[in-house]
Amino acid sequence: MASERLPHLVSRLQGHTRSIFTEVSRLAAATGAVNLGQGAPDFSGPEAVTEPAVEAIRAGRNQYAPGAGLPVLREAIARHQARWWGLDWDPDTEITVTAGATEAINVTIQALCEVGDEVLAFAPFYDSYPASAAMAGARLVPVPLVGEDLRVDPERLRAAVTPRSRLLVVNTPHNPTGRVLDAAERQAIADVVVEHDLIVLTDEVYEHLTFDGNDHVPLASMPQLRDRTVQISSAGKTFSVTGWKIGWACASPDLTRALQSAKMWTTFSNGTPFQFGVAAGLSLGDDWFDGYRKDYAERRDVLCGALESHGFVVRRPQGTYFALFDGRQLGAGDDGLALCRRLPAEAGVAAIPTTVFHGDVDHDPWWLRLAFCKDHDAMVEGVQRLAAFRDR
Ligand code: PMP
Repeated sequence: MASERLPHLVSRLQGHTRSIFTEVSRLAAATGAVNLGQGAPDFSGPEAVTEPAVEAIRAGRNQYAPGAGLPVLREAIARHQARWWGLDWDPDTEITVTAGATEAINVTIQALCEVGDEVLAFAPFYDSYPASAAMAGARLVPVPLVGEDLRVDPERLRAAVTPRSRLLVVNTPHNPTGRVLDAAERQAIADVVVEHDLIVLTDEVYEHLTFDGNDHVPLASMPQLRDRTVQISSAGKTFSVTGWKIGWACASPDLTRALQSAKMWTTFSNGTPFQFGVAAGLSLGDDWFDGYRKDYAERRDVLCGALESHGFVVRRPQGTYFALFDGRQLGAGDDGLALCRRLPAEAGVAAIPTTVFHGDVDHDPWWLRLAFCKDHDAMVEGVQRLAAFRDR
């Protein structure tokens, strides 16, 4: 996305002065549009998660948490990792609580990249990755997902590695495509990572949102990757509390000490009362997590079903709470980005153009992302408005 040049701002951040999420959400608020753009639920998290945070505030738990996070939360993260993914992280030496996944990603990159290093990421990619790389004086190198199915291409990955490659960022379930990596892709990634002595940063914020038997398997569960992975997640999506910004990073003691050194001088610690709420959430029973997944499978079907019934071409996601549809059918503007700037005012709907997730990699500029972490009625209304706009 073209960046506005700002006075005062250092040159390494000049390419990162705008966020389409901020822009589209502002347009949605100004026009009263149905906001299917930003990935924030329009409902609150379960009381089993929010009440312990309220109680913690009332009980005066309002001062700094330890830099690594409250022990009760680190222990809950360790138990959750073991229960769901069979992973064994030591809560004292291998787990760090952060200000959302965003901070975990940022401090990992600050801690591990020298100026001039390269951070590989599959394109399309979440837009904080290149900005965090730029802050470190590193450079994001996009490796496109290929073909109709948007898969990892091992040869393209291998070809992108250079002596300056330091980190590979892997987001699965993947925003914005909704892909969930399969066993062959995980194996291909592991082979390249080991061969070239890379560190993997995994972004697993949608770990509990997979559908149709597309199981989430963390890369860290592969023995050869266990000690070369920084496994990152967050409470925001799983418990519908994106405003709390409680995330975490799990990694070997050596990697943990490194990223904690960067974290110490970033926020030091954050969100003490919220950490109690998240600890309660991670300890909820399997039934709750199964219900959560079913609820989102239903929301996905409502959104994708509505789009399909109105004749839109849709990519049904294997995971996450995003679906893509082909904006060409709306027949306006030069590309998806131009169209998404017009949609709030002219159609009464906000959507995100996937073009902003691609960097400078060649791609189809017409796929638009809609979020289904929304009320059923809002999604149906939003799609009706898109259809009315198309048929105007
Ligand atoms: N990674 C991905 C892929 C995301 O979609 C998001 C949230 N939109 C984040 C990271 C950020 O997570 P948090 O809000 O916990 O910082």
